[in-house]
Amino acid sequence: MNPPRDNNKDKDRWDMSEWNIFSTDGPDDFDEVTDDQEEEDPDLIVIESKDDDEIIHRSIWFRRFLRFIAILVLTVFLAAFVLPSSIAGVWDYVSRPKEPDYYSLIASGEPVLRFDRQKIRYSIVMPENSPADAIRYFEAPLMRAMDSWDTPLGDRIDFVPAESTGTDDLLIHFVTDLRSAGLATLRSGTRYRPEIFIKMEVTGPMPNPVMLETVACHELGHALGIWGHSNYDGDCMYPIASRRTPSDRDIRTMRLIYGLDGGV
Ligand SMILES: [Zn+2]
Repeated sequence: MNPPRDNNKDKDRWDMSEWNIFSTDGPDDFDEVTDDQEEEDPDLIVIESKDDDEIIHRSIWFRRFLRFIAILVLTVFLAAFVLPSSIAGVWDYVSRPKEPDYYSLIASGEPVLRFDRQKIRYSIVMPENSPADAIRYFEAPLMRAMDSWDTPLGDRIDFVPAESTGTDDLLIHFVTDLRSAGLATLRSGTRYRPEIFIKMEVTGPMPNPVMLETVACHELGHALGIWGHSNYDGDCMYPIASRRTPSDRDIRTMRLIYGLDGGV
C-alpha cells in the first residue's frame, strides 16, 4: 500500500486507514469462532484446504473422545466407590433401631443377673496338651475384648487375673470342640460365677485374632449381665456377632444393667 506523500491531509487519512485495518472491532475484519461454536456447527469454520479440514475434525473428535472417557471414568468411580457406601449409609440409617439401647429385650421383669463386685477375678483354661506358649496367641484378643467392655463401665467393673483357679469369679475356656463359636453359662452356687467358652477356631497356622476378639466380646457381654441378645446386627450382642467391640447400644444397655445412667 503506497499512500500519497505530497499532502498532509491525505497522510492523516491513510494513517487512520492503517489503524482501521488492524482494528479487531470491525464487524467484518475477524470472525472469532469459539470452540463451542466449532463443535456445535463445524460449518462455521472457514476451511482453507482439505488437509486443514481433516485436522480440525480430528481435533474435535479427539476432544469429544476425551470428554467421553472422562465421563466414563467418573461414572465407574461413582458406581464403584461412592454409590455403595452411600446406599450402605442410607440402609444403615433406615434399618438401625431408633431405641438407643435394647434393655427392654433382656430384662423382662426377671432379676438382672450381674456381678455385684467391682474386681472381676478371671482364670483362663487352655485345652490339655496345648503348647506352653499357646496362651499368648489367645490372651491378646481376649484382653482387648475385656478392655472394650470395662473401659466404658468406668470404675464399676475391673477385670483382674485370679491368683489361682478356684478363686475366680469368671472362668474363660479356650476349647477346640464346640458346636458354636462361643458359649456362656452360669456355674451353680450361690455366688454369681459365670464361665465362657471360646472356640479356638484354628483354620491356619495361627488363630484368627479378629474372630477370637469378636467371640470374646459377645461371650463377655453375656457373662457381664446381658443374658439375651440384641435385635440389631450392628451390635456385638446380636446372635450372630460380627462386631469385635461393643456398639453404643451395647454399652448403653450394659450401663443400664449396672445401674449407671439411671438404670436398675
Ligand atoms: Zn449369645
